[in-house]
Amino acid sequence: MSNRIINFNAGPAVLPLDVLQAAQEELLNFNNTGMSILEISHRSKPYEEVNREAEANMKELLGLGDEYRVLFLQGGASTQFAMIPLNFLTSGQTADYILTGVWSEKALKEAKLVGQTHIAGSTAEGNYRRTPQQEEIQLSDKPAYVHITSNNTIYGTQWKELPSFGPVPLFADMSSDILCRPFDASKFSLIYAGAQKNLGPSGVTAVIIRKELAENSPRTIPTMLRYDTHASTDSLYNTPPTFAVYLLNLVLRWIKAQGGLTAMEARNVTKARLIYDAIDSSNGFYRGHADKDSRSLMNVTFRLPNEELEKMFAAESVAAGMSGLKGHRSVGGLRASIYNAMPVAGCQTLSQFMKEFCRKHG
Ligand code: PLP
Repeated sequence: MSNRIINFNAGPAVLPLDVLQAAQEELLNFNNTGMSILEISHRSKPYEEVNREAEANMKELLGLGDEYRVLFLQGGASTQFAMIPLNFLTSGQTADYILTGVWSEKALKEAKLVGQTHIAGSTAEGNYRRTPQQEEIQLSDKPAYVHITSNNTIYGTQWKELPSFGPVPLFADMSSDILCRPFDASKFSLIYAGAQKNLGPSGVTAVIIRKELAENSPRTIPTMLRYDTHASTDSLYNTPPTFAVYLLNLVLRWIKAQGGLTAMEARNVTKARLIYDAIDSSNGFYRGHADKDSRSLMNVTFRLPNEELEKMFAAESVAAGMSGLKGHRSVGGLRASIYNAMPVAGCQTLSQFMKEFCRKHG
């Protein structure tokens, strides 16, 4: 489609064209109901089927069975920052947080409002250029859980090997890299992700949670903030974000049709390599923010020799049909978000553009 630009925005972000077209085709008449999916009751059979299929597809892609539930909630990943300690940090316990960027700091901030916390590791020094080594992490005595952020959207870092702490429940914010590669999801007691990067539109947050953790939330917390409320009602306690869940399910179908997480990883590695190669072959013209062994497959962050060149790069990239490359203010420079739905060709275009820009200005 010639009028679509190459979208490197960090989120909401590019969606697979096939998914948008499928949604467009059935927008006015969903499954022969004579109604749009936007007009259907969440208590109707057709919507219940969407909801059921989305949960089943997510579990299939993650290789999880009946011991997990997938919930579709509102309030973004930011509400999970609060729901997690409200549900799992009881008085007298400590929750451990590993800080790898602003989003993990925000998760910690919410937990501090609820109870006792411990920073089990941090790579803040040098502005979060890497994720920690396992030996740098020091847990508290019997933590209620350990919380990590698997991919740090702002800095462009990602845990290459996801950690594990034996019997201690491991919780992860995977907002910006869920389903980008195969991993052992059964090591996690709870995974959450705002949909607007790798899963679909904004407005829905996927929570993948061990069943027993979603059975008995503390009686003292408000109904909507309890995991057991949503698990016992199949995410239909109140009106869910029906269109967002529908679109998320189309994205899950698309990932399955591409060959699942193994295929996603192969594609993502190819895409990321194209851009990192342009950085590494530039003789220092481009400087990556992330240390090489912590580089993200999803967000590539880099600086140019000065801000004037960075502005020129951003402006010229727009003229060349690309969008969203300006970096986050806390790192500066440029950021290319190359989530699952970004085609390889988009990264080829950027890589060529970077090489050409370096040749002209380097
Ligand atoms: N966690 C990570 C890793 C993010 O990248 C973001 C948003 O960019 C958030 C959390 C916040 O998500 P939300 O806006 O859904 O609350």
